[in-house]
Amino acid sequence: MKISKIEKEYLKKIKLYQKYNKYYYDKSDPKVTDSEYDNLKTEIVELENKYRFLKSNVSPSNSVGFSPSKNFKKVKHRIQMLSLSNAFNEEDLKNFEKKIRNFLSLKKNFKIEYSAEPKIDGISASLKYKDGKFVQGLSRGDGKEGEDITENLKTIGDIPKIIKYSDFPKEIDIRGEVYIQNDDFNNLREKFANPRNAASGSLRQKNPSVTEKIPLKFIAYTFGFVDEMNIKIQTDFLKKLKEWGFKINQYNRNIIGIENLIKNHKFLENERKKINFDIDGIVYKVNDFNLQKRLGYATNAPRWAIAHKFSANSSISEILNIEIQVGRTGALTPVAKIKPVKIGGVTVSNATLHNEDEISRKDIRVSDTVTIERAGDVIPHVISVDLKKRKKSSKKFIFPIKCPSCGSPTIKDFNETTKKKDAVRRCSSEGFECDQISKERIKHFVSKEALNIDGFGKKIVENFWELKLIKFPQDIFKLNYEKIKNLEGWGNLSTSNLKYAIDSKKKIPLDKFIYSLGIRHIGQENAKLIARHLKSAKNFFELSSKIKFDELSNIDGIGDTQINSIISFFRNKTNQEFLSELEKILDITDSPQINQSGSLKNKTFMFTGKFHNMSRAEAKSIIEENSGKIISNVNKKLDYLIIGEKPTIKKINKAKDLKIKIITQEEWLKMLN
Ligand code: NAD
Repeated sequence: MKISKIEKEYLKKIKLYQKYNKYYYDKSDPKVTDSEYDNLKTEIVELENKYRFLKSNVSPSNSVGFSPSKNFKKVKHRIQMLSLSNAFNEEDLKNFEKKIRNFLSLKKNFKIEYSAEPKIDGISASLKYKDGKFVQGLSRGDGKEGEDITENLKTIGDIPKIIKYSDFPKEIDIRGEVYIQNDDFNNLREKFANPRNAASGSLRQKNPSVTEKIPLKFIAYTFGFVDEMNIKIQTDFLKKLKEWGFKINQYNRNIIGIENLIKNHKFLENERKKINFDIDGIVYKVNDFNLQKRLGYATNAPRWAIAHKFSANSSISEILNIEIQVGRTGALTPVAKIKPVKIGGVTVSNATLHNEDEISRKDIRVSDTVTIERAGDVIPHVISVDLKKRKKSSKKFIFPIKCPSCGSPTIKDFNETTKKKDAVRRCSSEGFECDQISKERIKHFVSKEALNIDGFGKKIVENFWELKLIKFPQDIFKLNYEKIKNLEGWGNLSTSNLKYAIDSKKKIPLDKFIYSLGIRHIGQENAKLIARHLKSAKNFFELSSKIKFDELSNIDGIGDTQINSIISFFRNKTNQEFLSELEKILDITDSPQINQSGSLKNKTFMFTGKFHNMSRAEAKSIIEENSGKIISNVNKKLDYLIIGEKPTIKKINKAKDLKIKIITQEEWLKMLN
């Protein structure tokens, strides 16, 4: 490429970068997502590294934030307020520590201690105290000069205005983050895209009385200029901040070793959904001020600190369409087809909208610009609509009143417990009259927790259904293997494997059989309870003919909702045929009876972490076979917390607090002899 063309391309990117900065830092109204912005930043730095002649004062490698707004007086920072370098994985952390070791020529066995502090996603402020009095407050601005926002900062309750401690330095700039709590942000959703922009926009109001109305908070974490202070390490400084009356982060930790930094990162990444404000990573700071001083600063960030980011869990996209999916129990689930976006490294193109009520509550419409969240194992979902970007032509979404699959009327059940109508709308057809429900019931029938037929996945169900090879679950035992063998993607071996997989699952325990039927409200646990009570398949099949449904009410844990659901299942003609076919084909074994006097009688257990040579399901069934009980929360009712590999620290701490016995897998096995 010609030099002029490279320069032109570079300047175009710099201009765009400046524009994004202006909207983000100055106007508190970002034009693009953070990942789009970060990509542009990387592209600029990559160009600079490739073509050394490219330079700009406002390039991300030379600058911080954005120049102060004209709305405020500009004030020079006595010590610059810089940004932070980022780490995204273990490799980055190892490099960070390696660079520190090399820079300081540290001995191999020297252990570097870090102050690990959650990185609050707000905006930083520097508070100047003179003789214990808060005299001036500045925003970060471009790192060299900030905006004088003293009057606005004074409206924040968390900021002490007078500090009367003899060890409080004569003059000091206390630095920290101004942020807004998530519950307070809910009232500002229409004005700002996210809590960070809300904090920035509210703090940098021209009129302090407007700022006063916004419940801004402040957490302190460092200092800039200081006139005499006899503290040598960051963690001691944090403790002092607390003594002096500042709020500090309760999740601040003192950590040695990369593996422990990673453990803490995993813990906080999980924990953060419980925290009432946004954190986007953890800042690691070399704890010793002396070492910090020796390490000093690179162009726009200190060498002694790094921000270990969390994987992003939300992004902005556009709704292209809203489709209605019909589930196994007839529930109509609206799904938003969205413009594909990357969230935490995964491309997301669908987001659940949960149900009809959720759509109308959030007034979600086709063509809306929305924030999509994808956190952990939770299905991506829409958290909010950007009403400012709504097109004038957009129309309210009308939820179908007929099932999109079979055309039957849809209904909303009345919930006896809440005395309200359910939020979920359902197809009213029973049994296998609705094609979509039928397909879903077959998928359920062959699924892992039910018949567990190897290699019979959802796609195969769809494919065989389209080819009219199956219509009811029992059809899978009468498959036309000659036809399958000749289908695209199939051959002799795969067909005989499938046949083997199906035939080998004809023997099934009663509880799994009951679960496989896909009766509404009868999940795995309820199926187990019913199987234990009825003991044999014969008794189960006789429920209908002898009209013995009442006896189900003797089962602890089975109520009217479940019983009514079983009655309506048995009353349906297609279901009756389905049952009598299965009775002929399957060998349903009696339910194993619970040993009431095993060695774990009257004892409750809970697991955390991974076990050696044993799955959770196996461990659970061993406990139940020995008359023990599993509970799912650490509470006073728990007798033993069994820990495996990589346990959840929080559970252990809670168990310790409640004085619950904590045992290893080996100790537990010993209890069983
Ligand atoms: P940064 O926000 O990623 O990191 C530096 C900041 O971390 C500090 O200034 C401080 O305010 C904060 N911080 C929080 N807790 C801290 C602690 N305990 N110790 C020290 N500092 C702590 O850096 P940045 O350069 O201001 O901003 C970059 C971020 O802003 C990126 O995530 C980027 O995507 C986003 N951004 C987005 C757009 C957009 O248009 N979407 C534009 C500009 C910037």
